Amino acid sequence: MNEFDVIVVGGGPAGMMAAGHAAEYGRRVLLLEKNRTTGEKLRLTGGGRCNITNAEFDTRLFLANFGEAAKFLFSPFSRFSVRDTFEFFEGRGLSLMVEDRNRAFPTTEKSEDVIRLMEEYMAEGEVTVRFGSNVTGLLMEEGRICGVQTSQGPIRSESVVLATGGLSYKETGSTGDGFRWLREIGHTVAEATPDVVPLRVREQWVKDLSGLTLDPMRITFSGIDGGKVVREGKLLFTHFGVSGPLILNCAHEVKKLLKQGPVNTVIDLFPKQEIPEIDRKVLEIFDENKNKILRNVLRLLAPQGMSRALAAQLSDELLDKKINVVSAMERKQLIQTAKGLPLTVTGTMGYDWAVVCDGGVPLTEVDTRTMASRLQDNLYIVGDLLHISRPSGGFSLQLCWTSGFVAGENA
Ligand SMILES: Cc1cc2nc3c(=O)[nH]c(=O)nc-3n(C[C@H](O)[C@H](O)[C@H](O)COP(=O)(O)OP(=O)(O)OC[C@H]3O[C@@H](n4cnc5c(N)ncnc54)[C@H](O)[C@@H]3O)c2cc1C
Repeated sequence: MNEFDVIVVGGGPAGMMAAGHAAEYGRRVLLLEKNRTTGEKLRLTGGGRCNITNAEFDTRLFLANFGEAAKFLFSPFSRFSVRDTFEFFEGRGLSLMVEDRNRAFPTTEKSEDVIRLMEEYMAEGEVTVRFGSNVTGLLMEEGRICGVQTSQGPIRSESVVLATGGLSYKETGSTGDGFRWLREIGHTVAEATPDVVPLRVREQWVKDLSGLTLDPMRITFSGIDGGKVVREGKLLFTHFGVSGPLILNCAHEVKKLLKQGPVNTVIDLFPKQEIPEIDRKVLEIFDENKNKILRNVLRLLAPQGMSRALAAQLSDELLDKKINVVSAMERKQLIQTAKGLPLTVTGTMGYDWAVVCDGGVPLTEVDTRTMASRLQDNLYIVGDLLHISRPSGGFSLQLCWTSGFVAGENA
């Protein structure tokens, strides 16, 4: 007889949930993790605060964020919904709070507390956890999975839950091993591309403003074929381009425009005001500062930080002019620049910067009522291994809790 009923490969959020829940059913569970600790990526989530889920309790509205994948997800979410996630964590003593855009965090604001809770959950069910255990492949007998191969030799089990993660932030352990094994047994694995990811920009002035936040502003990306992506909110300049939640959440669409080449982009520093209104304000400020040079007056025109972005676009000759000699044409140029700072997006940052990669096994190849593979009914596929495009904001972790729970129940 096998020593274990279920082997879970990967100690991230999806694997820990699957292991803990399978153990609740009395299954003898072994979790294999190649790192020395569980939840290396989970530790980084939400900047260390862990955006544990998105508090949209209406499953239909919640799933509207998953595009095409939504129709496959009603069944697992009927087993473990966002409300169940709240009850699961709060019932175990970790209270949650909800911030803007429904993002939920532990009130302690520590991802470590989530990891500890999941470890306790597994310990309650006497899950055996082996660290430093590198799984090298699936163990097959007569065409059927019967365990896994590890660096220390084969281990047999009745069923296997694959929770090895996707390809983002490889240093946390998710190096794409699961994708390789799934391909080997005949699954289609959509190529993983960085999805929720910052964008690279050509212009040096953007990089020179690294660390600066613009809020509010409007950014418009225009593809060669006329396609447009328009967003309003907070923008973060970085040493390679632009980032922040607003960029991360539209990177998936900008990626499509990038297929045709670099994307012309403009930033509107005054999204809420039309040109005549801005002109009136500029004239007032000019009237009160006639003898100052434009460079020193810019900060009165635009909130702090924004004036640096604006100055970066204007010539030194104009910036050094006294206000009383700035012509009407030059004033117009100044306003037009503020309404449309041009930059060029040349690409997305790679996997190492991606919060979420798409790619993975399409849901058509998974029985989402159980999370079992449609090719091997004792193999369960969970978490970032699934090909589901999603925004940031707690949606990825909720997918881990739900898919892990359902796999644990059935494995
Ligand atoms: C910087 C960052 C911030 C994020 N913030 C959030 C957030 O706030 N909210 C949110 O919802 N999502 C967030 N995400 C996404 C979220 O972290 C992932 O969706 C989630 O961690 C995926 O969980 P998983 O269990 O599928 O895989 P992972 O967390 O990647 O875990 C996979 C585990 O499998 C192990 N493993 C891999 N191969 C093997 C092998 N061969 N043998 C043994 N073990 C192996 C790995 O070491 C790893 O521990 C963030 C991601 C990043 C990178």
